[in-house]
Amino acid sequence: MNKKLSIFLFYNFLFLSAALAHFQKDGTSTDNILEDVILYSDGQLIDLKFSNGKISEILPKKTQKGPNNFQIYVAPGLIDQQVNGYLSHSFVSNDLNKEKLNKITQRLWENGITTFFPTLTSESSQVLLQSFSNLDHILGDTQLAQSIPGFHLEGPYISSLDGFRGVHNPKHIRNPDWKELKTWIKASGNKIKIITLAPELDGSMELIKKCVAHNIKVALGHTTANAEQINEAVKLGASLSTHLGNGCANMIHRHYNPIWPQLSNDGLTISVIADGFHLTRDEIRTFFKVKGPTNIMLVSDITRWGGMPSGKYRDFDKEIVVTTSGAIMMPSENVLAGASFLITKGIEKMIEYTGCSLAEAIEMATTNPARAIGLNDRGTITRGKRADLICFTYEKGKFEIIKTIVGGKVVFDKMIKP
Ligand SMILES: [Zn+2]
Repeated sequence: MNKKLSIFLFYNFLFLSAALAHFQKDGTSTDNILEDVILYSDGQLIDLKFSNGKISEILPKKTQKGPNNFQIYVAPGLIDQQVNGYLSHSFVSNDLNKEKLNKITQRLWENGITTFFPTLTSESSQVLLQSFSNLDHILGDTQLAQSIPGFHLEGPYISSLDGFRGVHNPKHIRNPDWKELKTWIKASGNKIKIITLAPELDGSMELIKKCVAHNIKVALGHTTANAEQINEAVKLGASLSTHLGNGCANMIHRHYNPIWPQLSNDGLTISVIADGFHLTRDEIRTFFKVKGPTNIMLVSDITRWGGMPSGKYRDFDKEIVVTTSGAIMMPSENVLAGASFLITKGIEKMIEYTGCSLAEAIEMATTNPARAIGLNDRGTITRGKRADLICFTYEKGKFEIIKTIVGGKVVFDKMIKP
């Protein structure tokens, strides 16, 4: 080992040890403090204290840089409101069990995602009913529930047109039906918190009103709606756009298409998949310039094939290919079948594509989704908020998680990971 590298690693170890010194191996904290960490939002060196699972004190230090200039940042835990599955497991499933959900959640924690919304896509009434009921049952009162505050229902009330429907099975796409949705809400234990729908369908406007009245956030997506329909939906309470620029046909009218009105309507906070495959650099730059750093949320849209080796799989009764570069394709329909990268990649890409600050990119994966979804107990580093925290390094465009804390408990620690 060369001398320079060994000195770097030695100081690296010392500093990491300092930041980690107050936690035991089982993850319980002894005196609940993160020392000498850089606050992601303003670069201040701080000690961060928390007790009873909540942030209690943020104490600025005199010096501006950490020992030996090795920088470990602290930020709120990441929030992803569109996770379809992971590690071969889908959330639309009867055989999902606690063990599998634990495995998915643990892996997400290792990547800094402290809150996520299992996302269920278009299926038959019965399958969705069983899947929601199964998820509600698994969550029970486990620690997992802290990281899973609710579910996202994407479909089945979306456009059935090729291109716009993405890989949603047309056989399961239909017009809104409040009675049907109510059965799923009940089966989920009232945990459906977001629904993605197409406002142009018969009955959509009525459904939007009912969802808003039941505290369910309405997102527009997989839609061919015109400007009038989009603006009407927003007036009725729709507030989000799901993965803008995706769930859209390749050939659209240059003046009259669903993207412009969603961009121009200030009432919509948009989610984007910034993985390098779903949107071009210029689309992301444009979305960022229009919506600004506070009205964009990063989502992964990760599917069950995320985290899996490249190769051929079967899903939706079709062949799915995970390419060596990480794209998930459905060759028979020439569409992307969801994503394989987590929102940590989205943070890196946002900075690379738009030139936004690290703080802005982090907020697109923390503060913005928390505000847009109404998760008032998390998403910022503020006294009284839940201690969902990540410690990370950001070097040469690479974002790396060192430690993850959920509700004051260490759930991942790179230094003591077996
Ligand atoms: Zn979608």
